[in-house]
Amino acid sequence: MDKVTPEIRSAIMSRIRGKNTRPELIIRSLIHRLGFRFRLHRKDLPGTPDLVFPAKQKVIFVHGCFWHWHQKCDSFRASKSRVDFWQAKLARNRRRDASNKQALEELGWEVLTVWECQLRDTDSLKTQLQQFLD
Ligand SMILES: [Zn+2]
Repeated sequence: MDKVTPEIRSAIMSRIRGKNTRPELIIRSLIHRLGFRFRLHRKDLPGTPDLVFPAKQKVIFVHGCFWHWHQKCDSFRASKSRVDFWQAKLARNRRRDASNKQALEELGWEVLTVWECQLRDTDSLKTQLQQFLD
């Protein structure tokens, strides 16, 4: 009955947990320490951005590399070799992300996407967050 690899299984589990995933919590606490305040998961904005900075008109998405098909890291190669079902699904996620980003930008919001794999280097991530929010 269990036909999926451990990697897919763990991606499914983290998706079921949905909001407030571990990468998201880490990024929230980084931004807190940088001294910025934000709102969470604004449902009235395209794509329900994870972190919203209303006064700055800026939003941040925190994306898991597997589900959002991060083309710059190992998750991408792994998901490319997977069966058609996953490929179609992940490609759909990617297209949806792109259209949410475009919709937000048309509404005047600046958008930053932070990838799960960037958490391996929190120093440069912190710099990037600081630059985006300043
Ligand atoms: Zn990645």
